[in-house]
Amino acid sequence: MTKLAFAALPLLFATPAAAQPMAPVDDLRATIAADMPGLTAIYRDLHAHPELSFAEVRSAAIMAAAARKAGFDVTEKVGRTGIVAVLKNGPGPTVLIRADMDALPVVEQTGLAFASKVRATPASGVETGVMHACGHDTHMTAWIETARLLAARKGQWSGTLVMIGQPAEETGQGAEAMLKDGLYTRFPKPDFALAFHNMSAVPAGTIAYASGPAMANVDSIDIEVRGVGGHGAAPHTTKDPVVLAAAIVMRLQTLVSRENNPLDPAVVTVGSFHAGSKHNIISDSAKLQLTVRSFSDAQRQRLLDGIKRVVAGEAMASGIPEALMPKIALGEGFTPALINEPGFAEQVVAPLRARFGEERVLLLPPMMAGEDFSRFRLADPERIQSLMLWVGGEDPATIAAASRDGTVLPSLHSPFWAPDAEKVIAAAAEALTSAALRLMPKT
Ligand code: ZN
Repeated sequence: MTKLAFAALPLLFATPAAAQPMAPVDDLRATIAADMPGLTAIYRDLHAHPELSFAEVRSAAIMAAAARKAGFDVTEKVGRTGIVAVLKNGPGPTVLIRADMDALPVVEQTGLAFASKVRATPASGVETGVMHACGHDTHMTAWIETARLLAARKGQWSGTLVMIGQPAEETGQGAEAMLKDGLYTRFPKPDFALAFHNMSAVPAGTIAYASGPAMANVDSIDIEVRGVGGHGAAPHTTKDPVVLAAAIVMRLQTLVSRENNPLDPAVVTVGSFHAGSKHNIISDSAKLQLTVRSFSDAQRQRLLDGIKRVVAGEAMASGIPEALMPKIALGEGFTPALINEPGFAEQVVAPLRARFGEERVLLLPPMMAGEDFSRFRLADPERIQSLMLWVGGEDPATIAAASRDGTVLPSLHSPFWAPDAEKVIAAAAEALTSAALRLMPKT
């Protein structure tokens, strides 16, 4: 396989700039195309029945049934609603392929015939619509096809395949829950881990990846600013937490704008600020919620230490008594940065370039978004190498029109995000299957 792919590379350079994608070197693309009507039906069913984090019962059952039918040994309820499907096929490395299953508390506005009408009550306690606004339905469908393709090609690889359906990616808790529930002790520990995420603003069916840092450390911080309440007309008898919290919000900006090396990415965003009940009452507390993004451990620690220093310093400057100093807590927890080790990324991506054509494989810069797929490598970084691919889901004509007239296209998590699912599923299943076949060569 390696020789075939590298032999094909000079052809790429010999063809004109507007070259067509390379012809596939095997029957994967044709098989996926033949399977697409059935896959589209699965996708539309999953899309119409989205489930929130740790409630992915129906989705998990569909994936488990498909994997069992393909011949996998399937265990359910791993990390609450996760599933693990194992296919042992002789000596060789172990490859883990992950799809995340959860949807978001978003009211769908795509207008699609199979749009979600589901409603549910998330942890916030406020009932809302539920939508696959992050496209995890495309991930589950491509996962099912990948499982089927690899099971049907057992004669072409040797090793152990561990395919997992992960819950609660959106809350950053699902990967950790599966690992804590014995993913690497009850089941074979992988040598390699692969996943993909559909992507807005990237042409449908185009593969993209980052080499090195790919996605950021994510910390969620809750700050409770406390003061002394009283009459709005007598501020001198109070310690106003609104003014103090406002000063904290402004001063926090300097952690990035004044203290940070501009070449070292960092974000501090105050996404929530709540205080008070009425015009003429000075409240006794204000609550802030922050998201903090970084890549390195050192940068992360600098930001967290800086937040503590700013909050304490501003409270002191406001004359807050010692007993009422602000409280700082980690909120939803921590998602570690996702790093695609460059050597492994190239090992996987070079054959994809040969397979799909150079123009369908893009190198993208890192993003400050987070992704708990990082945990599957970090659980044993000496052993495990991992790569997360992105697969574009936007119509190229729509991207071209938007760049001409300045339209902002729907992003992931938008109520309008409607990827070209067939192109995403086809490209992802072909990329994951061909990558797994190469990582587990028949000896
Ligand atoms: Zn997502």
